[in-house]
Amino acid sequence: MPKLDLAAASWTDVRDHVAAGNTLAFLPFGALEQHGPHLPLSTDTIQCVGVAEALAEHYSGLLLPAVPYGETWDNGRFPGTISLSASTVSAICRDIGASAQSFGVTTLVIVNGDFGNRAPVHAAAREMSIGGFDVFVLDYPGLVEVGDAVKESPWAAPGLCHADELETSMVLALEPSLVHPDRYEASYPELPADFGRRPIRFDTLSPSGVFGDPRPATAAKGETIIAFVVERSVDEIDAHLGAIGATDAALGEAAGPTSTSEQQGAS
Ligand SMILES: [Zn+2]
Repeated sequence: MPKLDLAAASWTDVRDHVAAGNTLAFLPFGALEQHGPHLPLSTDTIQCVGVAEALAEHYSGLLLPAVPYGETWDNGRFPGTISLSASTVSAICRDIGASAQSFGVTTLVIVNGDFGNRAPVHAAAREMSIGGFDVFVLDYPGLVEVGDAVKESPWAAPGLCHADELETSMVLALEPSLVHPDRYEASYPELPADFGRRPIRFDTLSPSGVFGDPRPATAAKGETIIAFVVERSVDEIDAHLGAIGATDAALGEAAGPTSTSEQQGAS
């Protein structure tokens, strides 16, 4: 069974999809954040939607519309960047989770596309899981490993990719019309010794907003990167579902309607 895209589905489609045992939902959590002069502000959203779509397809899951904003204070002084507060990010996760749970979703997988979202998304996931609703967060597992294998340019810092070869390749693979190759420029800012350990305005480090070198980017590299992250994400999700004993229901394999029928009746 293919994934169900909630933005295009009717409520009866959702009822039937969940009743068939497909109770895994995927929420891409993006950002509207500067990514240099050559990439769109929606870069993080495009990337996490690409990963979430592939995962929803793999699991015959429910694909939720992406959250197009995130916590991105670091980039807040670049025009166009819109930042949510951390508490707003957490609240959005909790509210979406509560609604998804009410119509029979058993696990909400949040595909996080932005560094600033990490702390608030994980905090909300922990809170919901403690409260009895399973929420699992992915932060692009395997990205550094595949980056090491694919990238021809050096990292701006270990594991740091922002508007660089890696991110540019992913957008070239997913939304090539939004990339401006004529504006590519490399930038390797000097970073403070405690970079990543405290909030810091990116414009004080890189006036262009680029951290790395977009010039060697290709769509083929982007496809390789996304495929690897999806593969690692499947490993992590399977391990998680196995660990919580929900594998059958979540994979929708011959489980059939079970405890979800009660919740459907209530909706
Ligand atoms: Zn990004």
